[in-house]
Amino acid sequence: MTQFTENVGILSDVPVIEDPRKSVQFTARLRSAIECDELCLYYQPQYRTLDGKPCGVEALARWFPSNGPPIAPNVFIKQAEQAGLISDLGHWVLKEACETAMNWRQPGEEPPILCVNVSPHQICPGFFGILAQVLESTRYPASRLELEITEGILIENPELALQQLAQWKQLGVRIALDDFGTGYSSLSYLSRLPVDRLKIDRSLVQRVITDSKTAAIVRALISLGADLGFAVLAEGVETEAQFELLLRMGCNQMQGYLLTRPVPACQVESFLKRRWGERSTVRPAGSPASPGRLDRARLHSIAV
Ligand code: C2E
Ligand code: CA
Ligand code: CA
Repeated sequence: MTQFTENVGILSDVPVIEDPRKSVQFTARLRSAIECDELCLYYQPQYRTLDGKPCGVEALARWFPSNGPPIAPNVFIKQAEQAGLISDLGHWVLKEACETAMNWRQPGEEPPILCVNVSPHQICPGFFGILAQVLESTRYPASRLELEITEGILIENPELALQQLAQWKQLGVRIALDDFGTGYSSLSYLSRLPVDRLKIDRSLVQRVITDSKTAAIVRALISLGADLGFAVLAEGVETEAQFELLLRMGCNQMQGYLLTRPVPACQVESFLKRRWGERSTVRPAGSPASPGRLDRARLHSIAV
């Protein structure tokens, strides 16, 4: 059994859908869930450590079936990919996220950087049309939309993938490389990908305190990202010890349960108006502009 990320229930086992008959039934349920609006999006804010301001919000698909326990994204996204439903699901996620995030605009300000996951299976010429159409219909500014891809896109047809990414960039969207540090492709691809941000994978963050070799890798990834001119964000930050070590390593954007868990759309706006670690940015005049220590009391008061 897998535990659901927001601890709201138990999920279907992955093996359930490895049985071909159950897989067909599951696909039918998923198709109907997409068509009948049974899916929804949760959002997880990301923060800059320098001033505690939110620096983005990631849309994460959720499925709470009316007649059963919640089903984990890892399970239904994989099934959607295998059953050829990911394009429809991805289209719904993109449109829903852009429409919703438009409402979070503060007067005189641009909407937040909205991060949307894009499956390697969505990398096809048709996605460009969907992207252009969603941007037009929702009027979400392209420069505030960040599409999260993984190195998986480079496996099957790297040239097609690079061509697609170049087209997305022409629309003005941002691109993030998700799960960074876990792929197997050569690092030289980084010089060819039109990426704005690297997201250091949670599995590395989990081991950064306990394993000195992982810590060395994470330090090197942060430095590599910075040298290449990318923003670098650590994902899955769960403890203060991880937070403080990553901060000392020069990572200045973080996302994780320590800061904020994924929340329903109706709760996001209050997080976007809030800073955390506010007092950590108050520096004596003339002191260097380095990130201050995290104000633990403040951090605890806003972590959910
Ligand atoms: P991801 O893109 O790496 O998303 C981050 C995952 O880590 C999310 O899991 C999030 O809830 C979880 N997370 C965030 N902070 C922490 C933390 O501090 N500790 C722990 N243990 N987990 C944390 P979630 O929502 O279950 O999603 C799992 C994966 O499913 C995502 O991983 C992404 O690959 C995929 N996914 C979710 N929504 C979508 C979507 O709309 N489209 C596509 N293509 N994939 C999606
Ligand atoms: Ca992601
Ligand atoms: Ca990730």
